[in-house]
Amino acid sequence: MKKINVAVDGTSSSGKSCMARTLAEYSGLTYIDSGAMYRAITLFCLNNGLIHDGKVDEDTLSKQINDISISFKKNDKGLQDTYLNDVNVEKDIRGLRVSDNVSIVAAIPFVRHAMVAQQQAMGKERGVVMDGRDIGTTVFPDAEIKVFVTCSAHERAMRRFRELQAKGDTSATFEQVLANVQMRDKIDSTRKESPLRKADDAIELDSTHLQLHEQSQWLINLYDNYQE
Ligand code: C5P
Repeated sequence: MKKINVAVDGTSSSGKSCMARTLAEYSGLTYIDSGAMYRAITLFCLNNGLIHDGKVDEDTLSKQINDISISFKKNDKGLQDTYLNDVNVEKDIRGLRVSDNVSIVAAIPFVRHAMVAQQQAMGKERGVVMDGRDIGTTVFPDAEIKVFVTCSAHERAMRRFRELQAKGDTSATFEQVLANVQMRDKIDSTRKESPLRKADDAIELDSTHLQLHEQSQWLINLYDNYQE
């Protein structure tokens, strides 16, 4: 087996985390959810009063960013939980409060530089499958496999809405979830620093009409072909 890095980029709720996680289980690669890292920093900002009226207090955040530690640990179901300064924040980072603010935090250049440096360190020895927005373009431009997943905004919002409902989170309406998906697409693809963009050498998959298991299998096939 060749030890490789796999970059899975795409818009929010396009099914890319599920694909990346399934490939990790299949192949033994280490899965890293780069979006969880931006979500954890956003939670830190919210908990410390650093976001007011959609604006981040960048001065204070820049002084504190080196004291923020983000790590991942497997839980007893074998799933990866995100830790912010050693506290399990997995549930808190998935709610709409964080989703509504994460793209403005993720657009700040010094936040991105800090996260990209940590992500590159995680993949230095190769053997990583990472999902995000800029993995194929910025984090691992030399990844052996790069994919870019697209999906209609309506379908993505529907998936996200069902996911929240299944978790018992009934605080958001479908319209609110759709508005959040569209707002994040816009901020993510128009920001100056490493915007959401397909790498020239990435293979594109439109997942609008696919089941999650079908898109995961598509990635496994790609991996198997590479290993042959
Ligand atoms: O992947 P997920 O939807 O959880 O990511 C949350 C947010 O983090 C995205 O909307 C985007 O603003 C940001 N993000 C990013 N770069 C990445 C991963 C996520 O800017 N590599």
